[in-house]
Amino acid sequence: MSATVPIPEVGPGVLLTLDGDDWSEGRGLVPGSRVEVVLSGLHPDDSDEWVWVAGHRPGCAYPHVDEHVPCLELRVRLAVLRRYGSARHEP
Ligand SMILES: [Zn+2]
Repeated sequence: MSATVPIPEVGPGVLLTLDGDDWSEGRGLVPGSRVEVVLSGLHPDDSDEWVWVAGHRPGCAYPHVDEHVPCLELRVRLAVLRRYGSARHEP
């Protein structure tokens, strides 16, 4: 049984501002660049340090015009996401 670190609860629509060190791989993104992404979904990675973030560029018309597959998908440090939302704490 693997120890799974809970993914922070960050709601859809939250704007994440990511420095080059905050993420590692992204579809169509320049490594090390600063990225802004409006969150649409989080997907676990197989590690306890990273999580996949799907979302849209801030200038994207979603969801006002068309629903579409997220324009951005990148692997972000869990520690960075914790700045935006906290993991659920069991009492
Ligand atoms: Zn989009």
